[in-house]
Amino acid sequence: MKIGILALQGAFLEHSIMLRRLGVQATEVHLPSELNGLDGLIIPGGESTTISRLMIDYGLHQPIKKRASRDFPIFGTCAGMILLAKKANDLPLEPLGVLGIEVQRNAFGRQKDSFETSLSIPAIGEETFPGVFIRAPIVGKVEPGVTILCQLNGGTPVAVKQKKLLACAFHPELTDDLRFHAYFLQMVEEK
Ligand code: GLN
Repeated sequence: MKIGILALQGAFLEHSIMLRRLGVQATEVHLPSELNGLDGLIIPGGESTTISRLMIDYGLHQPIKKRASRDFPIFGTCAGMILLAKKANDLPLEPLGVLGIEVQRNAFGRQKDSFETSLSIPAIGEETFPGVFIRAPIVGKVEPGVTILCQLNGGTPVAVKQKKLLACAFHPELTDDLRFHAYFLQMVEEK
């Protein structure tokens, strides 16, 4: 199995480390040709405005969008979730628009723009998962066909899945817990 990590900006290195710990080949993607032969792709956290601009500049926007519509597995974390969404407020460029959610960028506000909390994610096991939120988006509207995997106490969805697309508002790559990445690899395997 070979997983690509979009390495234009943001926390891509941390995802490679997680994948290597799981015994999976991880490769950085900067150019469209580097998408060839991949079994899945991770879009990391970072600055969604910057990543979306670079995706267009490097000719990656359309090829990734096309693959997503053909059930190519993609996992987006934080800014990656924003980029997968159908709609994102305050994003000067179009997101990929492939995942049936609407997100509000930086919606946890300044005071609480970074926090950690224990999350319950039944799909990956009973034990709680360390949720690291860094200027995370809030998921508003969720379309039918999108499964909510995890919600904050107030009910805000923070992890969702739609066919082969997985997205979370938190940063599993900044923890020691490999379970969320392992869950994505399982989705990749179940082709
Ligand atoms: N606030 C960033 C954005 O809107 C996302 C932050 C992150 O990926 N940690 O793009």
